[in-house]
Amino acid sequence: MDTIEKLSVLSADSRYDLACACGTSREDHRKRGQEGKWLYPVALPQGGYSVLLKTLLSNSCRNDCGYCPLRAGTDIRRCTLQPEEVANVFMEYLRKRKVFGLFLSSGVTGSPDGTMDRINAVARILRYKHAFKGYIHLKIIPGASEAAIEDSFSLASAVSLNIETPGKTRFTLLSGQKDYMKDIIGPMKFMSRLKEQGGRNQKVKCTTQFIVGASDETDSEIIEYMSSIYHKLRFNRVYFSAYQKGLGRPSIPGEKKKLSEPDNIFAREHRLYQADFLMRRYGFGKQDIPVDNNGNLMLDKDPKELWASTHPEFYPVRINSSGRESLLRVPGLGPQTVMKIIRQRREGKIMRLEELGLKGKRLEKTRQYAICE
Ligand code: SF4
Repeated sequence: MDTIEKLSVLSADSRYDLACACGTSREDHRKRGQEGKWLYPVALPQGGYSVLLKTLLSNSCRNDCGYCPLRAGTDIRRCTLQPEEVANVFMEYLRKRKVFGLFLSSGVTGSPDGTMDRINAVARILRYKHAFKGYIHLKIIPGASEAAIEDSFSLASAVSLNIETPGKTRFTLLSGQKDYMKDIIGPMKFMSRLKEQGGRNQKVKCTTQFIVGASDETDSEIIEYMSSIYHKLRFNRVYFSAYQKGLGRPSIPGEKKKLSEPDNIFAREHRLYQADFLMRRYGFGKQDIPVDNNGNLMLDKDPKELWASTHPEFYPVRINSSGRESLLRVPGLGPQTVMKIIRQRREGKIMRLEELGLKGKRLEKTRQYAICE
């Protein structure tokens, strides 16, 4: 295979890894660019969009993760890119201004550190041979040593290690080869410690991803872990990837029960992103996220609206005098509108919600929970 053919295979296999800036809404997640499947539009932290070159270095893997189509023994077309090949293609796209950064992952070929060496080698070539100073996101391979992780930190703008499941028991159902504590949690804690050291390490973004629906886990379990990942490990983002029936082993526990309706799994992924947003941007604690008796988010209800409808004692919120946290609990008001309220009311009283630019259903929703007097 030539480089482009390999890229075509490997980038297609990388699409289920969402633990990067590759979209933050459901529509963006698996959307790929027009020119090549390896070009992904991404949402930039400062707003707007750009494009990442996103690929695996290899889709060969020695591991047996039940949810993953790349696991050892599956009948797929395997190939591997050499570090120089990836670096050259990337630089070609960069010169044509078609990409702004790179997301690089890999199946585990040989040892975890051997795989990390090859991933880090691409970043090293870009940083030192081509003097590329832009965005590089590197995958930390489960079981990687502290030295290999430190090497990635010294080269990358962002790194990710996928936690996959909330807890060891769930994880053991899906993988007989990886050790949850030693291969995943240990390296995640080390990533967290590196960030705490300050300096350049502090600026490296750390992210992780849950595979949703593969191990019969509940949303409460995921939310509990997510809270620790943000508050104890201080990771920057948690992503979710809906497990899709047919990609993994048919015998995964809970598969029939959970995935009988294909749309449900994406609706669940979407609700988890909403819960994540409430915890990161709206000041919700894990105990504030409403779940049903089975510990799951309600697929047909927005979690913020559900919280509001079950806490009548909290409303109405006063637009002209309530604090930021209270304003953020009003359905229809997001962080940007709340900032606008705080700015605007310094200059004078807000008399009507329309002054905030709210319209239509959003205005009606806000009216139910907030007053200007
Ligand atoms: S280690 Fe990664 S690539 Fe390999 S089987 Fe598991 S999830 Fe798939």
